[in-house]
Amino acid sequence: MIRERHLLGPGPSNPYPEATRALAQPLLGHLDPEFLRIMDETCEMLRTVWGTQNARTLPLSATGSAGMEAAFVNTVHPGDVVVVAVNGLFGQRMTDVAARCGAEVVAVEHEWGQPVDVDRVLSAHPSPTVIAAVHAETSTGVRSDVAALGAGKGDALLLTDAVTSIGGIELRADDWGIDIGYAGTQKCLGVAPGLAPFTIGDRAFERRVEKPRSWYLDLGMLGGYVGEAGVKDGGKAQRTYHHTAPTAMVASLHAGLTRILAEGLDAVWARHQAAGDALQAGLQDLGLELFVAEGSRLPELTTVRVPEGVDSAAVRTALLERHGIEIGAGAGPYASSVWRIGLMGRNARPDMVLLVLAALEDVLGR
Ligand code: PLP
Repeated sequence: MIRERHLLGPGPSNPYPEATRALAQPLLGHLDPEFLRIMDETCEMLRTVWGTQNARTLPLSATGSAGMEAAFVNTVHPGDVVVVAVNGLFGQRMTDVAARCGAEVVAVEHEWGQPVDVDRVLSAHPSPTVIAAVHAETSTGVRSDVAALGAGKGDALLLTDAVTSIGGIELRADDWGIDIGYAGTQKCLGVAPGLAPFTIGDRAFERRVEKPRSWYLDLGMLGGYVGEAGVKDGGKAQRTYHHTAPTAMVASLHAGLTRILAEGLDAVWARHQAAGDALQAGLQDLGLELFVAEGSRLPELTTVRVPEGVDSAAVRTALLERHGIEIGAGAGPYASSVWRIGLMGRNARPDMVLLVLAALEDVLGR
């Protein structure tokens, strides 16, 4: 990823001026009618980026991991069978969260770097309550076929992590049969970390846990937060206090979503794809080996093997210090043998591709 201070800081290099400017505006109170308008519009724009009509679509006031917790704690009753596709760190995290909700977890393990094997996941148990999968595994740079899971889910609820896919690659929650989805603001939406765009359909909401163990993440209580009327019919919101909304963050997300929708979702997805394709071709031209097989690579998050004999950490430090570019180390078992390069949001641009490639060429001496 291009260094965060470039992503979110002020100045001409800031690729997210709208979201940053919104953070710098005078603060609105959480019951100010102007803020309520911003919240309503934010929920509406989130429906568009999720590809859903779900009335219950909102930015949870917490990070993506809390979105994950909200998804499980509201839908998993003790003893429920939850099938989790595990092909990286975040699938692994799902198994932990589901187990803490008292689920009987059926973890379908994959080699890291592989996409989810839909047939294996769908045949892992005859009648699961929930099937859970990560759409875009940030730990490995892999895209999985969530639509195929939705097509074969039967009576199960499909729970999907879209933290790294939302606003970057095609995502159609309703068409794909996603019943519960959570995301984050800090990836392709190009906003600071701290909110979890969340959506839940009627089918999942009706089956929800009546009194989940979490008070804060109890979706049954959040209707008042976004307005009961808004939840029921998309109408004007009637708020009841649940918690104090992080107004500056919601305004920033509103600004980021406005920018994305002004560009157009199809255009945004195409821009991410073009940038990812160009980066991946350029890396191979430098003689580097990509970690993920063609066809499953995410354009917004490219994983590349660290060449033999190269000190992974030293290269990352040199990129940061000499070029102001931050790339990620690998995750889990690939911590020192893989690099992760993000081109997300406004950073998915040809000039950023050239910048990263030139910097790597310099640091690797190629
Ligand atoms: N899921 C995925 C795929 C992620 O990439 C991340 C974070 O990077 C999370 C979940 C957790 O989100 P957060 O770090 O905002 O809690």
